[in-house]
Amino acid sequence: RPERPRKPDWIRVKAPTSLGFAETKGLMRRLGLATVCEEAACPNIGECWTKKHATVMILGDTCTRACAFCNVKTGMPRAVDPLEPEHVAVAAAEMGLSHIVITSVDRDDLPDGGASQFVKVIQALRRNTPSTTIEILTPDFRNKAQAAVESIVEARPDVYNHNLETVPRLYPTIRPGARYYASLRLLESVKRHDPSIFTKSGIMLGLGEERLEVHQVMDDMRSADIDFLTMGQYLQPTPRHAKVAEFVTPKAFDAYAGIARAKGFLLVASSPLTRSSYHAGDDFERLRAA
Ligand code: SF4
Ligand code: SF4
Repeated sequence: RPERPRKPDWIRVKAPTSLGFAETKGLMRRLGLATVCEEAACPNIGECWTKKHATVMILGDTCTRACAFCNVKTGMPRAVDPLEPEHVAVAAAEMGLSHIVITSVDRDDLPDGGASQFVKVIQALRRNTPSTTIEILTPDFRNKAQAAVESIVEARPDVYNHNLETVPRLYPTIRPGARYYASLRLLESVKRHDPSIFTKSGIMLGLGEERLEVHQVMDDMRSADIDFLTMGQYLQPTPRHAKVAEFVTPKAFDAYAGIARAKGFLLVASSPLTRSSYHAGDDFERLRAA
């Protein structure tokens, strides 16, 4: 049996113990909000929550899909909470967020895939905290993608993020419910509908992808006019999930970042602990100030 690679030193993270962490947790529980930071067991939670950066997960904490890399629970989700948009806006205001990232589980059970809840959350945020920039990280909405994209784009988020997650060859094992080209087309159509919205996508490394396959994904993203790219190390959340094939070195992440910038991405975040929403606000503010 091949040996599993050991977790290298650059992956170790500090335990979350700060006051900011406790306050963020208290606020989320009080408002009944789920976060991807907790549900996906994100290694950056100590750092992000101390700085009051959190990624709110709307439409409940139970997903209709079961991707091989993801720690979010699978099952029959609860009914959509009509108070959720206001609660997200209250959380953004109380945390004093200049940038908020909103994501959701996949809701293949809903007639619109959950798109109207994204719209309501964006509208509630615009009403309550108009200076907060809004980044949404959506599912692929499967066969409802066109209608979903049209309605969400009309609500005008600042950044539309949707992750390709991995190279197309690994989709059948890693992201079995999704199609690579459908995800690319979704992001392409956001840009076509409203070129002023920044588009963003990301992949995990260390799942067994080859270097040239990663370069090809970058080319595919640029052909779809995707502006921002994130790349981070995949970590196996539990023994039931896909195994780590390799721990990619920080140097290799830097090399990928250099190639991505040369290919024309406006923002590139590439390091072992990079996640889709890691430092998203800081990076976006720097870009707007430039
Ligand atoms: Fe949450 Fe994103 Fe930070 Fe992870 S990187 S803790 S998901 S805000
Ligand atoms: Fe996790 Fe998203 Fe896959 Fe659901 S669709 S299992 S939330 S990655």
